[in-house]
Amino acid sequence: MRNKIEKIKDDALQELEGVSDEDALNDVYVRYLGRKGVLTQYLRGISRLPADERPLAGKEANRIKGIIEGAVKQAGEKLEASGFDPKDALDVSLPGRPMERGNLHPVTKINNEICEIFVRLGFDIAEGPEVETDYYNFEALNFPRYHPARDMQDTLYVSDSIVLRTHTSPIQVRTMQERQPPVRIIAPGKVFRCDSDITHTPMFHQVEGLLVDVNISFGDLKGMLTTFVHQMFDKKTGLRFRPSFFPFTEPSAEVDILCVICRGKGCRVCSHTGWLEVLGSGMVHPAVFEFAGYDTSKYTGFAFGMGVERIAMLKYGIDDIRKFFDNDLRFLRQF
Ligand SMILES: [Zn+2]
Repeated sequence: MRNKIEKIKDDALQELEGVSDEDALNDVYVRYLGRKGVLTQYLRGISRLPADERPLAGKEANRIKGIIEGAVKQAGEKLEASGFDPKDALDVSLPGRPMERGNLHPVTKINNEICEIFVRLGFDIAEGPEVETDYYNFEALNFPRYHPARDMQDTLYVSDSIVLRTHTSPIQVRTMQERQPPVRIIAPGKVFRCDSDITHTPMFHQVEGLLVDVNISFGDLKGMLTTFVHQMFDKKTGLRFRPSFFPFTEPSAEVDILCVICRGKGCRVCSHTGWLEVLGSGMVHPAVFEFAGYDTSKYTGFAFGMGVERIAMLKYGIDDIRKFFDNDLRFLRQF
């Protein structure tokens, strides 16, 4: 009796040693531990033994059962760790799975393009927080509290004195507080306004520029922006400067470019005027310099700002700004 059970154990352990895949392992398991397995049959046979032999034989058989079960478990873990199962072997005749190739978002592309143009013109890139204090977003840019110009921007307030920045202009102030002229920066980033229709989204991107030095005139502003427009669109793109109002610049001008679709003949995109508004600009207001602690008798400068989505819409001929944020791959893959 004792020899028989020892032999079952030795056979089982030897077979488990040679197991190379799940199926073979399962086969060994069934043959020894299954309902009709060798060991199961043996355990059943114990009841036919003389009464005084049963306890010892039963105890011994259960011990062996435990050893075999442990060995099966171990063999299974070994197989799993080796990770090799002939069924999973590489079938080189199967067609491959193509790797999807990503591309930059059109707004990111245009933003990079704008920044590259100004970096070539000698500007540094500056950044600032998207959650901004009322002081930097308005006060220091010459928008006093209750000034009607605050209504031009549908501000999202976090608290009485904290806002989601409505423009990237606060970065101008922060930069001027940190360095003395000459200053030449552009500030790209997200801005937020409570507004949504085919030409407005609650979040959009701006690039703001600031140049401060001695003897800077409106002529320098015109020259700089003309160079930018010619590089961004093409050399045939005409510009015009229209008087406008911003609290932080004086004089201020909005910049129109000749319609890129109809070249000035008049079309739906330009509302049949032949012109498209792309930039706000002006000479920095002396009050802003005073907030920054610059000597207004010595320094002058200009600032300008543009919406990145607006430029992207014109460049790619897109008529609804919301398409940029729908995340529709059919749209995004075109760029
Ligand atoms: Zn047009």
